[in-house]
Amino acid sequence: MSVIVTLDNVYRAYKMGSEIIKAVDGISLKITQGEVCCLQGPSGSGKSTLLHLMAGLDKPTKGSIHIGKTRIDKLNENQLAVFRQRYVGFVFQNYYLIPTLTALENVTMPLSFCGMSRKKRTERAKELLEAVGLKDRMKHKPSELSGGQQQRVSIARAFANNPKIIFADEPTGNLDTANAFEMMKLMTSMARQFNQTLVIVTHDVELSEFATRIIKLRDGKIEKIENGRDQNYEEKHA
Ligand code: ADP
Ligand code: MG
Repeated sequence: MSVIVTLDNVYRAYKMGSEIIKAVDGISLKITQGEVCCLQGPSGSGKSTLLHLMAGLDKPTKGSIHIGKTRIDKLNENQLAVFRQRYVGFVFQNYYLIPTLTALENVTMPLSFCGMSRKKRTERAKELLEAVGLKDRMKHKPSELSGGQQQRVSIARAFANNPKIIFADEPTGNLDTANAFEMMKLMTSMARQFNQTLVIVTHDVELSEFATRIIKLRDGKIEKIENGRDQNYEEKHA
């Protein structure tokens, strides 16, 4: 099994006046391709900071971060932008859809950087929206969609460029239990289909049952790692 994320003794400190906050305080971790990794821990334990570091949205104060063979903490902003477009997808708690664009346009957007023809981009976006159950909502703007539907659009967008790894920061935080469960099922089955890796921050203990590993953080450190379902769970239980 190939390793996709390697964190080696990673630190991220913030200076606030005279105080130094160690948001991530010496984390080493390997994540293999195809894993569904859940990050858990109390508020302020460093989950979002760690996720942003792994996704190349932030740089560590110390330590190294590899995605595949690329050491991302050494890339400049331009290189990082290209890296993220090619390899990374994001799902956020607040969806971050563009309010003036339709569902279809929101999903087509990330594809405009990868040299696909307009026709191909639209085809791909339609396929994805269909896969997340929004075939009849493509022309709707975010404000014309429910929270659960907006999160489906953002999942379709995250998967659009077929990224190797998808990072999600409390993606179900604003959804009711039934919708949250559906969303986790959807993300894990889509990822499974294409051997993509998921790294998900979630408070919800129920949702961590989808995880192959649960990484518990406290005060910027790994407190505990629990093994969850094995990577072939879905096939065995199909
Ligand atoms: P979590 O996602 O687990 O709730 P965060 O990673 O957001 O935690 O934050 C970890 C710690 O780092 C917290 O104490 C938070 O206040 C601090 N922190 C996060 N981002 C910043 C920032 N941009 N500037 C200063 N402190 C920050
Ligand atoms: Mg957070």
